Amino acid sequence: MSAHVEEIERMVRAACHCTAVRMEIAELPDWVLDCNCTLCRRYGGIWSYPKPGAVTIVQGKDATDTYLWGDRQLAFHRCKTCGCVMYMEAVLEKPPFIYGINARMIPTLDPKSVRLRQKNNGHTGWFWTRSDSPPEGSHHPKMDMPSAADWR
Ligand SMILES: [Zn+2]
Repeated sequence: MSAHVEEIERMVRAACHCTAVRMEIAELPDWVLDCNCTLCRRYGGIWSYPKPGAVTIVQGKDATDTYLWGDRQLAFHRCKTCGCVMYMEAVLEKPPFIYGINARMIPTLDPKSVRLRQKNNGHTGWFWTRSDSPPEGSHHPKMDMPSAADWR
């Protein structure tokens, strides 16, 4: 078997629910990130950060819509058909690149095989996941705790 074929067979597949968006990743992550910011906690994304160039969108580059917020550095891509949040793209970089992918889209990834890091970007200390290590601090601007009068 050629080295090229072996490399392709090692590739990890990720796809949205309707499979319109399909990605190949060079390797499985050994850690993933749960961020409790106002966006990630809603998406429920569990982020993995492949090395630049390690992700190939094999199908569905045009099958996503995007959402940008805050400093508008990251575009969150979701499938236009099934709505799955697939990846975030660093859009201000030249050229733009895939900065993180939603590890929940990798069917062969066993959560027990990865270390879960929690990032306290929402400044609440609240997480829907459980981790063996304490939440990590944030470089995002400090926010007040949510109140009953709050839509955040
Ligand atoms: Zn889809």
